[in-house]
Amino acid sequence: MYDAVVIGGRCAGAAVGTHLARQGRRVLVVDRSRFPSDVLSTHFIWPHGASHLNRLGVLDQVRAVTPAHTEVTIVNDGIALRGSVPEELLRNQFRLLHGDDHGITTEYFSVRRHVLDKILIDNAVEAGVEFREGYTVKELLRDDDGTVVGIEGRDGTVEHARVVVGADGRNSFVARALGIGKSDERPRCTFAYWSYFSGIPDAPAQIHRRGRLGMAMASTNHGRTMVLAWGPSEWAAGFRADVEGNFHRALGLISEEAAGTVAAATREERFYGTLDQAAYLRQLHGPGWVLVGDAESFKDQCTALGITHALRDAELAAAAIGRWLGGESDRDTAMAGYAAKRRSQTAAAYYDYVCTLAEMKPLRHDELQLFSTLRGNQAETDRFIATHVDVAPVSEFFDPSNVFLLNDTARESSRDHGVFADFEATYRDHHRNPFQRAEAEGTR
Ligand SMILES: Cc1cc2nc3c(=O)[nH]c(=O)nc-3n(C[C@H](O)[C@H](O)[C@H](O)COP(=O)(O)OP(=O)(O)OC[C@H]3O[C@@H](n4cnc5c(N)ncnc54)[C@H](O)[C@@H]3O)c2cc1C
Repeated sequence: MYDAVVIGGRCAGAAVGTHLARQGRRVLVVDRSRFPSDVLSTHFIWPHGASHLNRLGVLDQVRAVTPAHTEVTIVNDGIALRGSVPEELLRNQFRLLHGDDHGITTEYFSVRRHVLDKILIDNAVEAGVEFREGYTVKELLRDDDGTVVGIEGRDGTVEHARVVVGADGRNSFVARALGIGKSDERPRCTFAYWSYFSGIPDAPAQIHRRGRLGMAMASTNHGRTMVLAWGPSEWAAGFRADVEGNFHRALGLISEEAAGTVAAATREERFYGTLDQAAYLRQLHGPGWVLVGDAESFKDQCTALGITHALRDAELAAAAIGRWLGGESDRDTAMAGYAAKRRSQTAAAYYDYVCTLAEMKPLRHDELQLFSTLRGNQAETDRFIATHVDVAPVSEFFDPSNVFLLNDTARESSRDHGVFADFEATYRDHHRNPFQRAEAEGTR
Protein backbone atom coordinates (compact mmCIF):
# COMPACT_ATOMS: atom_id res chain seq x y z
CA MET A 1 0.00 0.00 0.00
CA TYR A 2 1.47 3.33 -1.11
CA ASP A 3 0.42 6.66 0.37
CA ALA A 4 0.29 8.03 -3.18
CA VAL A 5 0.55 6.68 -6.70
CA VAL A 6 1.32 9.44 -9.21
CA ILE A 7 0.52 8.82 -12.89
CA GLY A 8 2.90 10.90 -15.04
CA GLY A 9 6.49 11.67 -14.09
CA ARG A 10 7.27 15.02 -15.73
CA CYS A 11 6.97 18.57 -14.31
CA ALA A 12 3.77 18.00 -12.36
CA GLY A 13 4.25 14.32 -11.45
CA ALA A 14 7.95 14.34 -10.54
CA ALA A 15 7.44 17.51 -8.47
CA VAL A 16 4.38 16.27 -6.56
CA GLY A 17 6.20 12.97 -5.93
CA THR A 18 9.28 14.77 -4.58
CA HIS A 19 7.26 16.98 -2.22
CA LEU A 20 5.30 13.99 -0.89
CA ALA A 21 8.42 11.85 -0.44
CA ARG A 22 10.06 14.68 1.50
CA GLN A 23 7.07 14.61 3.85
CA GLY A 24 8.00 10.98 4.52
CA ARG A 25 5.19 9.50 2.37
CA ARG A 26 5.59 6.24 0.46
CA VAL A 27 5.20 7.28 -3.18
CA LEU A 28 5.16 5.45 -6.52
CA VAL A 29 5.48 7.52 -9.72
CA VAL A 30 4.79 5.77 -13.03
CA ASP A 31 5.14 7.02 -16.59
CA ARG A 32 4.59 5.28 -19.89
CA SER A 33 7.51 7.27 -21.39
CA ARG A 34 11.15 6.50 -20.86
CA PHE A 35 13.49 9.28 -19.74
CA PRO A 36 15.22 11.33 -20.99
CA SER A 37 12.63 12.16 -23.63
CA ASP A 38 10.89 15.24 -25.04
CA VAL A 39 7.31 16.47 -25.02
CA LEU A 40 5.84 19.15 -27.24
CA SER A 41 6.83 22.35 -25.45
CA THR A 42 8.83 25.53 -25.94
CA HIS A 43 10.02 25.03 -22.33
CA PHE A 44 10.43 28.63 -21.14
CA ILE A 45 10.47 28.89 -17.36
CA TRP A 46 9.77 32.25 -15.72
CA PRO A 47 11.35 33.28 -12.37
CA HIS A 48 8.56 31.77 -10.24
CA GLY A 49 9.04 28.47 -12.11
CA ALA A 50 12.80 28.71 -11.54
CA SER A 51 12.10 29.45 -7.86
CA HIS A 52 10.08 26.23 -7.68
CA LEU A 53 13.00 24.37 -9.26
CA ASN A 54 15.16 25.87 -6.51
CA ARG A 55 12.72 24.75 -3.82
CA LEU A 56 12.86 21.25 -5.30
CA GLY A 57 16.68 21.43 -5.11
CA VAL A 58 17.43 21.14 -8.85
CA LEU A 59 18.12 24.74 -9.89
CA ASP A 60 21.92 24.37 -9.74
CA GLN A 61 21.72 21.34 -12.05
CA VAL A 62 19.56 23.28 -14.51
CA ARG A 63 21.81 26.36 -14.31
CA ALA A 64 24.90 24.24 -14.97
CA VAL A 65 23.64 23.34 -18.47
CA THR A 66 21.22 26.16 -19.37
CA PRO A 67 21.81 29.90 -19.96
CA ALA A 68 20.23 32.04 -17.22
CA HIS A 69 18.97 35.61 -17.61
CA THR A 70 16.97 38.07 -15.54
CA GLU A 71 15.98 40.70 -18.12
CA VAL A 72 13.48 40.12 -20.90
CA THR A 73 12.47 42.32 -23.85
CA ILE A 74 8.81 42.47 -24.84
CA VAL A 75 8.07 44.38 -28.06
CA ASN A 76 4.47 45.23 -28.95
CA ASP A 77 3.96 46.70 -32.42
CA GLY A 78 7.44 48.19 -32.30
CA ILE A 79 7.22 49.47 -28.70
CA ALA A 80 10.04 47.79 -26.81
CA LEU A 81 9.90 47.26 -23.05
CA ARG A 82 12.82 45.74 -21.21
CA GLY A 83 12.70 44.69 -17.59
CA SER A 84 12.65 41.97 -14.96
CA VAL A 85 10.18 40.39 -12.59
CA PRO A 86 10.71 42.25 -9.27
CA GLU A 87 11.95 40.10 -6.40
CA GLU A 88 9.52 41.68 -3.93
CA LEU A 89 6.51 40.70 -6.04
CA LEU A 90 7.85 37.15 -6.28
CA ARG A 91 8.28 37.01 -2.52
CA ASN A 92 4.73 38.32 -1.94
CA GLN A 93 3.31 35.69 -4.25
CA PHE A 94 5.14 32.79 -2.63
CA ARG A 95 4.20 33.93 0.89
CA LEU A 96 0.57 34.22 -0.17
CA LEU A 97 0.36 30.87 -1.99
CA HIS A 98 2.83 28.68 -0.13
CA GLY A 99 3.29 30.40 3.23
CA ASP A 100 7.04 31.12 2.81
CA ASP A 101 9.41 32.60 0.27
CA HIS A 102 12.48 30.42 0.48
CA GLY A 103 14.38 29.68 -2.73
CA ILE A 104 13.24 32.78 -4.64
CA THR A 105 15.24 33.66 -7.75
CA THR A 106 14.65 36.32 -10.38
CA GLU A 107 16.41 34.23 -13.04
CA TYR A 108 14.61 32.55 -15.89
CA PHE A 109 15.59 29.67 -18.19
CA SER A 110 14.58 27.99 -21.40
CA VAL A 111 15.45 24.37 -20.62
CA ARG A 112 14.76 21.51 -23.03
CA ARG A 113 12.35 18.97 -21.67
CA HIS A 114 14.64 16.00 -22.22
CA VAL A 115 17.05 17.86 -19.90
CA LEU A 116 14.58 19.19 -17.31
CA ASP A 117 12.31 16.18 -16.93
CA LYS A 118 15.25 13.81 -16.42
CA ILE A 119 16.69 16.11 -13.72
CA LEU A 120 13.28 16.29 -12.02
CA ILE A 121 12.63 12.55 -11.98
CA ASP A 122 16.17 11.69 -10.81
CA ASN A 123 15.67 14.20 -8.01
CA ALA A 124 12.36 12.54 -7.08
CA VAL A 125 14.07 9.15 -6.87
CA GLU A 126 16.78 10.67 -4.69
CA ALA A 127 14.05 12.02 -2.40
CA GLY A 128 12.74 8.46 -1.94
CA VAL A 129 10.18 8.08 -4.75
CA GLU A 130 9.89 4.68 -6.40
CA PHE A 131 9.78 5.27 -10.17
CA ARG A 132 8.66 2.95 -12.95
CA GLU A 133 9.19 4.19 -16.50
CA GLY A 134 7.73 2.54 -19.57
CA TYR A 135 4.71 1.72 -17.38
CA THR A 136 1.24 2.46 -18.78
CA VAL A 137 -1.74 2.62 -16.44
CA LYS A 138 -4.76 0.98 -18.03
CA GLU A 139 -7.31 0.95 -15.17
CA LEU A 140 -8.12 2.82 -11.97
CA LEU A 141 -9.15 0.57 -9.08
CA ARG A 142 -12.24 1.74 -7.20
CA ASP A 143 -13.98 0.47 -4.10
CA ASP A 144 -17.74 -0.07 -3.73
CA ASP A 145 -18.52 3.59 -3.12
CA GLY A 146 -16.45 4.71 -6.13
CA THR A 147 -13.39 5.93 -4.23
CA VAL A 148 -10.20 5.46 -6.25
CA VAL A 149 -7.94 3.07 -4.37
CA GLY A 150 -5.18 2.20 -6.84
CA ILE A 151 -4.07 1.45 -10.39
CA GLU A 152 -3.66 -1.48 -12.73
CA GLY A 153 -0.84 -1.39 -15.26
CA ARG A 154 -0.93 -2.69 -18.80
CA ASP A 155 1.50 -5.38 -17.58
CA GLY A 156 -1.21 -6.63 -15.17
CA THR A 157 0.43 -5.36 -11.96
CA VAL A 158 -1.89 -3.84 -9.38
CA GLU A 159 -0.87 -1.16 -6.87
CA HIS A 160 -2.99 0.22 -4.03
CA ALA A 161 -2.73 3.77 -2.68
CA ARG A 162 -4.57 6.15 -0.36
CA VAL A 163 -4.58 8.71 -3.17
CA VAL A 164 -3.98 8.52 -6.93
CA VAL A 165 -2.60 11.71 -8.48
CA GLY A 166 -3.33 12.27 -12.18
CA ALA A 167 -0.29 14.22 -13.46
CA ASP A 168 -0.84 12.67 -16.85
CA GLY A 169 -1.12 15.68 -19.12
CA ARG A 170 -3.72 17.22 -21.39
CA ASN A 171 -5.22 13.96 -22.61
CA SER A 172 -5.42 12.75 -19.00
CA PHE A 173 -6.16 9.04 -18.66
CA VAL A 174 -7.38 9.65 -15.08
CA ALA A 175 -9.89 12.27 -16.25
CA ARG A 176 -11.13 9.95 -19.01
CA ALA A 177 -11.38 6.94 -16.70
CA LEU A 178 -13.40 8.95 -14.18
CA GLY A 179 -15.51 10.69 -16.80
CA ILE A 180 -14.34 14.17 -15.74
CA GLY A 181 -15.25 16.64 -18.45
CA LYS A 182 -13.71 19.98 -19.34
CA SER A 183 -15.22 23.28 -18.21
CA ASP A 184 -14.75 26.93 -19.23
CA GLU A 185 -13.31 25.75 -22.57
CA ARG A 186 -11.80 28.44 -24.82
CA PRO A 187 -11.42 27.07 -28.34
CA ARG A 188 -9.82 30.24 -29.76
CA CYS A 189 -6.07 29.82 -29.44
CA THR A 190 -2.82 30.20 -31.34
CA PHE A 191 -0.93 27.94 -33.69
CA ALA A 192 2.79 27.72 -32.90
CA TYR A 193 5.84 26.53 -34.87
CA TRP A 194 9.42 26.55 -33.64
CA SER A 195 12.89 25.14 -34.16
CA TYR A 196 16.45 25.32 -32.81
CA PHE A 197 19.27 27.37 -34.34
CA SER A 198 23.01 27.64 -33.79
CA GLY A 199 24.97 30.81 -34.49
CA ILE A 200 22.77 33.20 -32.50
CA PRO A 201 24.64 34.86 -29.61
CA ASP A 202 23.36 34.10 -26.11
CA ALA A 203 21.13 37.04 -25.18
CA PRO A 204 18.14 37.75 -22.91
CA ALA A 205 14.87 36.42 -24.32
CA GLN A 206 12.87 38.58 -26.69
CA ILE A 207 9.14 38.33 -27.29
CA HIS A 208 7.49 40.29 -30.12
CA ARG A 209 3.91 40.97 -31.14
CA ARG A 210 3.05 42.73 -34.38
CA GLY A 211 -0.46 42.82 -35.72
CA ARG A 212 -1.84 39.32 -35.17
CA LEU A 213 1.52 37.54 -35.15
CA GLY A 214 4.04 36.79 -32.42
CA MET A 215 7.60 35.51 -32.18
CA ALA A 216 10.01 34.65 -29.39
CA MET A 217 13.70 33.85 -29.19
CA ALA A 218 15.42 32.30 -26.18
CA SER A 219 18.79 30.64 -25.75
CA THR A 220 18.53 27.07 -24.53
CA ASN A 221 20.75 23.99 -24.00
CA HIS A 222 23.51 22.66 -26.28
CA GLY A 223 24.42 26.19 -27.54
CA ARG A 224 21.14 26.49 -29.46
CA THR A 225 18.47 29.15 -29.58
CA MET A 226 14.77 28.31 -29.70
CA VAL A 227 12.91 30.51 -32.20
CA LEU A 228 9.12 30.40 -32.17
CA ALA A 229 6.44 32.00 -34.36
CA TRP A 230 2.72 32.00 -33.60
CA GLY A 231 -0.53 33.48 -34.82
CA PRO A 232 -4.32 33.10 -34.58
CA SER A 233 -5.68 29.60 -35.19
CA GLU A 234 -7.78 30.86 -38.11
CA TRP A 235 -4.52 31.54 -40.00
CA ALA A 236 -3.06 28.11 -39.19
CA ALA A 237 -4.06 26.26 -42.35
CA GLY A 238 -2.37 28.81 -44.58
CA PHE A 239 0.76 28.80 -42.43
CA ARG A 240 0.96 25.00 -42.44
CA ALA A 241 0.96 24.87 -46.26
CA ASP A 242 4.61 26.00 -46.21
CA VAL A 243 5.96 25.91 -42.67
CA GLU A 244 9.55 26.90 -43.39
CA GLY A 245 8.67 29.66 -45.87
CA ASN A 246 5.92 31.08 -43.67
CA PHE A 247 8.07 30.84 -40.54
CA HIS A 248 10.65 33.19 -42.06
CA ARG A 249 7.91 35.27 -43.66
CA ALA A 250 6.24 35.71 -40.26
CA LEU A 251 9.53 36.72 -38.62
CA GLY A 252 10.07 39.28 -41.38
CA LEU A 253 6.62 40.77 -40.81
CA ILE A 254 7.15 40.92 -37.04
CA SER A 255 10.74 42.17 -36.74
CA GLU A 256 13.18 42.69 -39.59
CA GLU A 257 16.08 42.65 -37.15
CA ALA A 258 15.11 39.34 -35.57
CA ALA A 259 14.35 37.86 -38.99
CA GLY A 260 17.86 38.87 -40.15
CA THR A 261 19.45 37.25 -37.10
CA VAL A 262 17.60 33.99 -37.74
CA ALA A 263 18.28 34.06 -41.50
CA ALA A 264 22.02 34.24 -40.76
CA ALA A 265 21.85 31.33 -38.27
CA THR A 266 21.81 27.57 -38.93
CA ARG A 267 18.70 25.52 -38.23
CA GLU A 268 19.81 22.38 -36.38
CA GLU A 269 16.51 20.52 -36.01
CA ARG A 270 13.22 20.02 -37.80
CA PHE A 271 10.28 22.33 -37.17
CA TYR A 272 7.96 21.38 -34.31
CA GLY A 273 4.42 22.68 -34.20
CA THR A 274 0.94 22.52 -32.80
CA LEU A 275 -2.45 23.77 -33.91
CA ASP A 276 -4.27 22.88 -30.70
CA GLN A 277 -3.81 24.96 -27.59
CA ALA A 278 -7.47 25.29 -26.63
CA ALA A 279 -7.82 26.14 -22.94
CA TYR A 280 -9.92 24.28 -20.34
CA LEU A 281 -10.34 23.59 -16.65
CA ARG A 282 -11.20 20.26 -15.03
CA GLN A 283 -12.50 19.33 -11.58
CA LEU A 284 -9.41 19.17 -9.34
CA HIS A 285 -10.14 16.34 -6.94
CA GLY A 286 -12.63 13.74 -5.79
CA PRO A 287 -12.72 10.64 -3.58
CA GLY A 288 -9.24 9.12 -3.72
CA TRP A 289 -7.96 11.21 -6.65
CA VAL A 290 -6.37 14.58 -7.43
CA LEU A 291 -5.43 16.18 -10.76
CA VAL A 292 -2.31 18.34 -11.17
CA GLY A 293 -0.65 20.14 -14.11
CA ASP A 294 -2.10 19.95 -17.61
CA ALA A 295 -4.43 17.16 -16.48
CA GLU A 296 -6.23 19.74 -14.35
CA SER A 297 -6.06 22.78 -16.62
CA PHE A 298 -4.41 24.05 -19.78
CA LYS A 299 -4.17 27.41 -21.47
CA ASP A 300 -2.52 28.74 -24.59
CA GLN A 301 1.25 29.03 -24.28
CA CYS A 302 1.41 32.63 -25.54
CA THR A 303 2.58 33.55 -22.02
CA ALA A 304 4.61 30.32 -21.56
CA LEU A 305 3.39 29.30 -18.13
CA GLY A 306 2.40 25.61 -18.24
CA ILE A 307 5.58 24.29 -16.61
CA THR A 308 5.74 27.07 -14.02
CA HIS A 309 2.09 26.50 -13.11
CA ALA A 310 2.54 22.70 -13.03
CA LEU A 311 5.42 23.15 -10.54
CA ARG A 312 3.34 25.58 -8.46
CA ASP A 313 0.30 23.29 -8.40
CA ALA A 314 2.44 20.26 -7.55
CA GLU A 315 3.58 22.06 -4.41
CA LEU A 316 0.04 23.19 -3.54
CA ALA A 317 -1.44 19.72 -4.13
CA ALA A 318 1.30 17.95 -2.17
CA ALA A 319 0.82 20.31 0.79
CA ALA A 320 -2.93 19.60 0.80
CA ILE A 321 -2.45 15.82 0.45
CA GLY A 322 0.13 16.00 3.26
CA ARG A 323 -2.35 17.77 5.57
CA TRP A 324 -4.90 15.05 4.90
CA LEU A 325 -2.57 12.02 5.11
CA GLY A 326 -0.90 13.49 8.19
CA GLY A 327 -4.27 13.86 9.93
CA GLU A 328 -4.09 17.66 10.22
CA SER A 329 -7.44 17.91 8.47
CA ASP A 330 -9.95 15.60 6.83
CA ARG A 331 -9.62 14.87 3.11
CA ASP A 332 -12.41 17.18 1.93
CA THR A 333 -11.21 20.17 3.94
CA ALA A 334 -7.59 19.69 2.85
CA MET A 335 -8.47 19.33 -0.81
CA ALA A 336 -10.91 22.25 -0.67
CA GLY A 337 -7.92 24.38 0.37
CA TYR A 338 -6.03 23.30 -2.80
CA ALA A 339 -9.13 24.01 -4.91
CA ALA A 340 -9.64 27.44 -3.33
CA LYS A 341 -6.13 28.55 -4.32
CA ARG A 342 -6.46 27.16 -7.84
CA ARG A 343 -9.89 28.67 -8.41
CA SER A 344 -9.33 32.06 -6.77
CA GLN A 345 -10.50 35.26 -8.44
CA THR A 346 -6.87 36.08 -9.20
CA ALA A 347 -6.36 32.74 -10.97
CA ALA A 348 -9.63 33.18 -12.92
CA ALA A 349 -8.60 36.69 -14.01
CA TYR A 350 -5.25 35.39 -15.28
CA TYR A 351 -6.91 32.51 -17.15
CA ASP A 352 -9.12 35.10 -18.83
CA TYR A 353 -6.13 37.34 -19.61
CA VAL A 354 -4.26 34.51 -21.38
CA CYS A 355 -7.33 33.29 -23.26
CA THR A 356 -8.00 36.82 -24.50
CA LEU A 357 -4.37 37.29 -25.60
CA ALA A 358 -4.53 33.91 -27.37
CA GLU A 359 -7.21 35.29 -29.71
CA MET A 360 -4.40 37.44 -31.12
CA LYS A 361 -6.65 40.42 -31.73
CA PRO A 362 -4.75 43.45 -32.98
CA LEU A 363 -3.63 45.55 -30.04
CA ARG A 364 -5.88 48.54 -29.47
CA HIS A 365 -4.73 52.13 -29.59
CA ASP A 366 -5.14 52.53 -25.83
CA GLU A 367 -3.11 49.38 -25.19
CA LEU A 368 -0.28 50.67 -27.35
CA GLN A 369 -0.53 54.02 -25.64
CA LEU A 370 -0.08 52.24 -22.32
CA PHE A 371 3.01 50.38 -23.56
CA SER A 372 4.37 53.66 -24.86
CA THR A 373 3.89 55.23 -21.44
CA LEU A 374 5.62 52.36 -19.70
CA ARG A 375 8.81 53.01 -21.63
CA GLY A 376 9.61 55.92 -19.37
CA ASN A 377 8.78 54.10 -16.14
CA GLN A 378 10.98 51.13 -15.18
CA ALA A 379 9.12 50.25 -11.97
CA GLU A 380 5.78 50.04 -13.81
CA THR A 381 7.40 48.21 -16.74
CA ASP A 382 8.65 45.58 -14.30
CA ARG A 383 5.21 45.42 -12.69
CA PHE A 384 3.65 44.95 -16.14
CA ILE A 385 6.06 42.07 -16.89
CA ALA A 386 5.24 40.51 -13.51
CA THR A 387 1.53 40.85 -14.28
CA HIS A 388 1.91 39.43 -17.79
CA VAL A 389 3.54 36.27 -16.36
CA ASP A 390 1.17 35.87 -13.39
CA VAL A 391 3.37 37.04 -10.55
CA ALA A 392 1.20 40.09 -9.76
CA PRO A 393 -2.61 40.16 -10.03
CA VAL A 394 -4.03 41.26 -13.40
CA SER A 395 -6.75 43.19 -11.56
CA GLU A 396 -4.20 45.47 -9.87
CA PHE A 397 -2.06 46.50 -12.84
CA PHE A 398 -5.04 46.88 -15.19
CA ASP A 399 -7.18 48.59 -12.57
CA PRO A 400 -8.65 51.67 -14.30
CA SER A 401 -7.15 54.03 -11.73
CA ASN A 402 -3.64 52.69 -12.47
CA VAL A 403 -4.15 52.75 -16.22
CA PHE A 404 -5.55 56.29 -16.16
CA LEU A 405 -2.64 57.40 -14.01
CA LEU A 406 -0.15 55.89 -16.43
CA ASN A 407 -1.91 57.19 -19.52
CA ASP A 408 -1.94 60.73 -18.16
CA THR A 409 1.69 60.92 -19.13
CA ALA A 410 1.38 58.98 -22.39
CA ARG A 411 1.37 61.90 -24.80
CA GLU A 412 4.41 63.41 -23.13
CA SER A 413 6.44 60.20 -23.09
CA SER A 414 5.66 59.27 -26.70
CA ARG A 415 6.55 62.66 -28.16
CA ASP A 416 10.00 61.58 -29.43
CA HIS A 417 9.02 58.12 -30.61
CA GLY A 418 7.44 57.19 -33.90
CA VAL A 419 4.97 54.91 -32.15
CA PHE A 420 1.78 56.15 -33.68
CA ALA A 421 3.15 56.22 -37.22
CA ASP A 422 4.37 52.68 -36.61
CA PHE A 423 0.92 51.76 -35.30
CA GLU A 424 -0.74 53.05 -38.50
CA ALA A 425 1.63 50.97 -40.63
CA THR A 426 0.86 47.94 -38.50
CA TYR A 427 -2.87 48.42 -38.98
CA ARG A 428 -2.47 48.91 -42.71
CA ASP A 429 -0.15 45.98 -43.40
CA HIS A 430 -0.27 43.39 -40.69
CA HIS A 431 -3.86 42.51 -39.90
CA ARG A 432 -4.76 40.71 -43.10
CA ASN A 433 -3.92 37.02 -43.25
CA PRO A 434 -0.44 37.00 -44.84
CA PHE A 435 -0.61 33.24 -45.38
CA GLN A 436 -3.81 33.24 -47.43
CA ARG A 437 -2.09 32.74 -50.75
CA ALA A 438 -0.19 29.75 -49.37
CA GLU A 439 -3.47 28.42 -48.00
CA ALA A 440 -5.15 28.69 -51.42
CA GLU A 441 -2.19 27.03 -53.09
CA GLY A 442 -2.15 24.29 -50.42
CA THR A 443 -5.78 23.37 -51.09
CA ARG A 444 -5.48 23.32 -54.90
C1 LIG B 1 3.29 24.15 -28.11
C2 LIG B 1 3.48 24.22 -26.63
C3 LIG B 1 4.42 25.08 -26.10
C4 LIG B 1 4.59 25.16 -24.74
N1 LIG B 1 5.53 26.02 -24.24
C5 LIG B 1 5.67 26.18 -22.92
C6 LIG B 1 6.61 27.11 -22.39
O1 LIG B 1 7.36 27.80 -23.12
N2 LIG B 1 6.70 27.23 -21.04
C7 LIG B 1 5.89 26.51 -20.21
O2 LIG B 1 5.98 26.70 -19.00
N3 LIG B 1 5.01 25.61 -20.69
C8 LIG B 1 4.88 25.43 -22.01
N4 LIG B 1 3.99 24.51 -22.49
C9 LIG B 1 3.14 23.77 -21.56
C10 LIG B 1 3.90 22.68 -20.87
O3 LIG B 1 4.58 21.88 -21.82
C11 LIG B 1 2.92 21.84 -20.06
O4 LIG B 1 2.12 22.69 -19.27
C12 LIG B 1 3.64 20.85 -19.17
O5 LIG B 1 4.28 19.87 -19.96
C13 LIG B 1 2.66 20.17 -18.23
O6 LIG B 1 3.35 19.19 -17.49
P1 LIG B 1 2.58 17.93 -16.92
O7 LIG B 1 3.57 17.22 -16.05
O8 LIG B 1 1.28 18.35 -16.34
O9 LIG B 1 2.19 17.04 -18.19
P2 LIG B 1 3.09 16.37 -19.32
O10 LIG B 1 4.38 17.08 -19.48
O11 LIG B 1 2.19 16.24 -20.51
O12 LIG B 1 3.41 14.90 -18.75
C14 LIG B 1 2.41 13.92 -18.62
C15 LIG B 1 3.07 12.55 -18.51
O13 LIG B 1 2.04 11.60 -18.21
C16 LIG B 1 2.37 10.39 -18.84
N5 LIG B 1 1.16 9.57 -18.99
C17 LIG B 1 0.01 9.92 -19.60
N6 LIG B 1 -0.88 8.91 -19.55
C18 LIG B 1 -0.27 7.90 -18.88
C19 LIG B 1 -0.69 6.60 -18.52
N7 LIG B 1 -1.92 6.12 -18.79
N8 LIG B 1 0.18 5.81 -17.85
C20 LIG B 1 1.43 6.26 -17.54
N9 LIG B 1 1.86 7.49 -17.87
C21 LIG B 1 1.02 8.31 -18.52
C22 LIG B 1 2.95 10.83 -20.18
O14 LIG B 1 3.79 9.81 -20.72
C23 LIG B 1 3.72 12.08 -19.82
O15 LIG B 1 5.09 11.83 -19.61
C24 LIG B 1 3.80 24.37 -23.87
C25 LIG B 1 2.86 23.50 -24.39
C26 LIG B 1 2.69 23.41 -25.77
C27 LIG B 1 1.67 22.46 -26.32
